[in-house]
Amino acid sequence: MPVSLYVDGSRWRQHLRAAAAAYPGIVPVAKGNGYGFTVGRLARRAQWLGADTLAVGTYAEVDDVRQRFSGDVLVMEPWRPSRPDIPYDSRLVHTVGRLEDLAALGDRGDHPRVVIEALTSMHRHGLSADALASVGRSPYGVRLEGHALHLPLGTGHVSEVEHWLARCPADRWYVSHLSDTELAMMRDVHRDIDVRPRVGTSLWLGDRGALDVRATVLDAHPVRRGERVGYRQRRLPRSGTVLVVSGGTAHGIGLQAPPAAATARQRAAAVAQGGLDAVGRALSPYVVDGRQRWFVEPPHMQVSMIFLPVGCAVPRVGDEVELQVRFTTTAFDAIHIS
Ligand SMILES: *Cc1c(COP(=O)(O)O)cnc(C)c1O
Repeated sequence: MPVSLYVDGSRWRQHLRAAAAAYPGIVPVAKGNGYGFTVGRLARRAQWLGADTLAVGTYAEVDDVRQRFSGDVLVMEPWRPSRPDIPYDSRLVHTVGRLEDLAALGDRGDHPRVVIEALTSMHRHGLSADALASVGRSPYGVRLEGHALHLPLGTGHVSEVEHWLARCPADRWYVSHLSDTELAMMRDVHRDIDVRPRVGTSLWLGDRGALDVRATVLDAHPVRRGERVGYRQRRLPRSGTVLVVSGGTAHGIGLQAPPAAATARQRAAAVAQGGLDAVGRALSPYVVDGRQRWFVEPPHMQVSMIFLPVGCAVPRVGDEVELQVRFTTTAFDAIHIS
């Protein structure tokens, strides 16, 4: 009995087209769990969208997209000499984050295609401005496709972008996490530069209204206050129904990504919404009769037990209930695109 993702196909496709139009030169990003859709499915969608380049997160993902997407594949994980040698591939574009790696790729003799990542205020991967400026436009032994800027979330990137463009001239810049306005400004000020936005979330998940996640009701048991249930034989504080639903740790249910909340207040709100209450109960992502319901105990591998108090309308076995998930941490059993 599956955890299913239902996609309103025409609405989703309409959004994808609109997003592609809003980001000229878009490089769709397909990585990880494919934002819930799987990397392979996103590769086919990128082909359908007419993108000329698709970005993947790691070398391991290249095989998932090669047969489904006919354009260039940009690997965003920086190339390292320790990785197993891959034969030259005219469609593969490497990302380089250190001068010594650039030199090592250049020494290979087959002129691999590379994008050089700048070490932005993210401090994840990349060359310093001095190092990148020293590389110039035609580094030894490689075919330089452009430079890349991976910026933090939010806005206020303009001065950082300008700093890099002034210090390190390049014909093409791949950019991540610039706002629409920042992209428009960058294009306007630098008409001679090919600006290529790398976009995942706001492309694939940009219209949540087109996406509906449902779990299946597997069983429903009336219970009395004080009865013990579950692996942990906890006593129920109230009478009602224990609902057994599909979805467990294997689907990523109950495994929240760490909250990104920056302030104490945001953290408190996150706890109230999805975390634990004072007695250690956790609010589940299952919505029944209009409300998110409490877990009876932590989710099992493939099912969860949730509690419905007396008065709550109890769904029937086989019915589907709404599930609020974080798409990047969820593995769906079935994906239906209408
Ligand atoms: C994942 C990733 C992106 C896409 O990020 P979204 O927030 O999903 O759009 C862009 N650039 C890099 C380097 C990434 O790792």
